[in-house]
Formats: sequence, C-alpha cells, structure tokens
Amino acid sequence: MRPTAFSRPGRFYRGNLHTHSTLSDGALEPAEVCRRYRAEGYDFIALTDHFIGSYGYPVADTRPWRDEGFTTLLGAELHSGAMENGELWHILAVGLPADFAPADAPGFHPVEGQETGPEIAARARAAGAFVAIAHPQWSGLTLADARSLEAAHAVEAYNHGCAIGSDRADGFHVLDLLLSEGRELTLVATDDAHFTEPDHFGGWVMVKAEENAPEALLQALKDGAFYATQGPAFHDLRVEDGRVHVACSAVASVIVQGRGSAAQAVHGESLTRAEIALTRVARSPWLRVTLIDRAGRRAWSNPVRLA
Ligand SMILES: [Zn+2]
Ligand SMILES: [Zn+2]
Repeated sequence: MRPTAFSRPGRFYRGNLHTHSTLSDGALEPAEVCRRYRAEGYDFIALTDHFIGSYGYPVADTRPWRDEGFTTLLGAELHSGAMENGELWHILAVGLPADFAPADAPGFHPVEGQETGPEIAARARAAGAFVAIAHPQWSGLTLADARSLEAAHAVEAYNHGCAIGSDRADGFHVLDLLLSEGRELTLVATDDAHFTEPDHFGGWVMVKAEENAPEALLQALKDGAFYATQGPAFHDLRVEDGRVHVACSAVASVIVQGRGSAAQAVHGESLTRAEIALTRVARSPWLRVTLIDRAGRRAWSNPVRLA
C-alpha cells in the first residue's frame, strides 16, 4: 500500500494553510504576507482571516498576488457557536468561495441563536472547502467537540503560532483518538501566523499535485495527497509485507504510531531509509509515520488505513 501522496503523479508544493493579515488581527497587509511567504520559498498560501462581523466577514481576495511561481487559495477561519468550554469555535476552511455567506458571528464570543460550529463547518464543506479542526489543544477542545465536527477533512495537528505563543501546539491526541474510532481524517501543520510574534515559517504542508494551481492543490488536499512538516521531507512511504518502508531526507528518528500505545521507532545517524516491522502496530487499524531530524524538527505522514 502506497499512500496517495507518493503514488500519484506530480510534484510536491509547499504551502501554509492558516495565516492572518490586517483584514482581521494580523500585523501585515495581505500583499506583504504573500510577499514574505513567497520570498521564503513557499509555492502557495491561504490567507485565512477571522470570519467575524467586526472584521466584515473577510474572505481575503489574494488573487492579485498569484503569478507563475506562486498561488493562493481563498479561505477563512470560521467562528460560530460554543464548544463545551463555552468558548467560540475556530474552524479552518481553505478553498472557500469569495462570496461565502456571512455567519451571525459579531465577535470572538458566542451569541444566542447563531449557527453551531458543526453547522458552519458543514456549510463550508458543502461550498467546496477543505475543512480542518483548528488548534485543538489551544482551544481546550474536548473529544466530544471534535467528534461533533463531522464535516472536518483534517485535524490541525501542529499549529506553530500556538507553539510559540502558548506552548499548546498539539492536535495529535485528538486526531489519534478519532482515527481509532474509525474517522477518516488527515493531518495538517500550519503557522497560524499573525506576524505579531515569531509565529511564521514553522509548520507547513507539502501537497502533491500536477500543477501549482488552486483547483489542483485543493483537490489534492481533499484526497490526502500531502504530508505535514517543520523541515524534513518524505520521499516515499509504503506498507508492504508487514513492514513500513520510508525514504526521506536525513533524519535521526523514524517512528510509526498506531492505536492506543502502539509505536515502533528506529534511531540512527543521517537515516534516509528505514524499514520498520509492524509488530505492535500490526493490530492497529491505522498507522502514521513521524520523522525527526537532528535539530528536532518533525515531519508527519497522513494516516494510512490498514483495516
Ligand atoms: Zn484560531
Ligand atoms: Zn488563526
């Protein structure tokens, strides 16, 4: 079994799916955000400003900054309804139509009668968006909250802004629990950059597509044809004959994770290939792979279904 990111034709494009600008509470104008990401070697970004009334429900029009070597996906961070802790939902929606209908979400606090989080997420997915459960740990998201967001394609497993600003970057705990319940989910790493602190260029996705064009990238995201990273690269991933075969940039550790406590690690010097026998992980209905380089930077494969 070879996950779609490695079996399909095309090449990998580097993108950040979660970014803010002066259209909401970010520090930089949209043009400067695009310029900086492009200058840092990104192939595309999604500007995802806060979709609330006090900012005029922005779906940032980044089309003017598309050109030969750089493209953008339209998107927003959606907010409506309360999570179990009473705070407002944060939901990432990439690939929204520019005229996505406003919510009744005046500010950063839930109000009576507005759409629930699951409802606005479903509306975004129906409108064509790739939907991710944003920063679960930062939000204080419960497992019940996560279960309720049935429209989600993905979990934001690593959020760099949340790592820098609150040391609460994690989404893997919620992701792994949902995977073990049988949910089909992928995982993304993002910046959630506001440029108000060193919250940028720390986590991104590498998306396999035949061209660096919004429609191709969006379809590849929905198909799970990508991996998430802070730097290390996956070159190949296969599950064959009871083993996981990985080809990658030079790393210090390759770790396979599955349901519950199942995990299997290989450590070494400048590893560019690893073959890991599915011992404990063999009984898991899914697995995923983490790479860790000498600097501690990680890359994460999407989950692979075994059963
Ligand atoms: Zn947020
Ligand atoms: Zn955000």
